Amino acid sequence: MDCIFCKIVKGEIPSKKVLENEKFLAFYDINPSAPVHILIIPKEHYENFSTTPSEIFCEISEFIKEVAKEVKVKDYRLITNNGKSAGQEIFHFHIHLLSNPNGKLKWPKLV
Ligand code: 5GP
Ligand code: ZN
Repeated sequence: MDCIFCKIVKGEIPSKKVLENEKFLAFYDINPSAPVHILIIPKEHYENFSTTPSEIFCEISEFIKEVAKEVKVKDYRLITNNGKSAGQEIFHFHIHLLSNPNGKLKWPKLV
């Protein structure tokens, strides 16, 4: 069965899209942790960073730069939660792009 993000890729679950190409999709997080909170995913399903081929990671980095341009943010934070105890809830590889264009992002203690 498809995961939530595979369903978003297929359009079976609606999302607020930022940018897409044949391989990658960027859409707004449903429960934002910052004024700009975008999720960037490969359309193909990989469980997380650990199981994503390096070539895909390389390509997604270029796509992320396009996403940042698209939403006109210069300063931003990229996060990927790799595994349950690292905070991963959706097991389809994704990178969080977080930004606070009119202020600063906190750098909280995580434990
Ligand atoms: P994780 O904890 O796996 O790193 O991040 C999963 C993220 O997906 C969370 O920030 C959560 O708010 C977001 N999310 C979960 N379900 C949906 C959904 O159906 N639509 C969108 N746009 N975001 C979702
Ligand atoms: Zn998936």
